Amino acid sequence: MTDQPSTPSASSLTTADPEALPALVAFDLDDTLAPSKSPVPDPMAAALRALLDVVPVCVISGGQINQFRDQVLARIDATPAELTRLHLMPTCGTRYYRYEGPASGTADSDALAGWTLEYANDLTPEQITEGFAIVEREARRLGLWETETWGPVLEDRGSQITFSALGQEAPVDAKRAWDPTGEKKSALRDAVAPHLPELEVRSGGSTSVDITLKGVDKAYGMRRLAEVTGIALDDTLFVGDRLDPAGNDYPVKALGVPCHAVTGWEDTAAYVTELAARLAAARH
Ligand SMILES: [Mg+2]
Repeated sequence: MTDQPSTPSASSLTTADPEALPALVAFDLDDTLAPSKSPVPDPMAAALRALLDVVPVCVISGGQINQFRDQVLARIDATPAELTRLHLMPTCGTRYYRYEGPASGTADSDALAGWTLEYANDLTPEQITEGFAIVEREARRLGLWETETWGPVLEDRGSQITFSALGQEAPVDAKRAWDPTGEKKSALRDAVAPHLPELEVRSGGSTSVDITLKGVDKAYGMRRLAEVTGIALDDTLFVGDRLDPAGNDYPVKALGVPCHAVTGWEDTAAYVTELAARLAAARH
């Protein structure tokens, strides 16, 4: 075990056969398709469009649909034909959206026009109220309840409660600086979890702790995706930046879905460009 690297490299976390041609490609969002809470950069958008031309694509994240709208839909400049091959799974797939084509009467400027919520698996109002109260109490007790924040610290995302230490709108630099080791998030997670036994409490993005129904993580979303698309998980490829055992993409790897680990959007864009070309070539 002494030759085990302490920080696993992207290549060592990859389980997918590099030659395989997936029937569907699923992506994590933050730090995989885009910098955290930021728009998909143009080269990544171009790579994604090329992939959508040859295979169905899913984006799955702990974030909610508005993040998908702002970070992905408003930026990728995809055609309606490409959008019909895009599957959106906010809040780890407890919600699922498909593109049905632009509805008449809706403004074209709204990037969510034509998108339909296919299902939602929400928390009850009682679970939300209790969750908010316990997270605030424990965060205050641990000295993690910040007074200078950018937007609300606690957010009801329907199927998920999210604690964002500095608020949802906090600048990336401030978020990075808040808990570089992940220690604070872990302490809050450990303090809250015993008080909400029927719910899952998990450390999420850079400053966040997510509370969901038990058993809801990206593996849950990937299983739901296989159900709704009929595409087997073995034929699916998942791409994410946190496939290490402590990462929020790890449940997908643990489920046995072929995974490709990336270090950031530049890495993803290069990989997706090559994959799209390989899929396109296989069709001829
Ligand atoms: Mg990520």
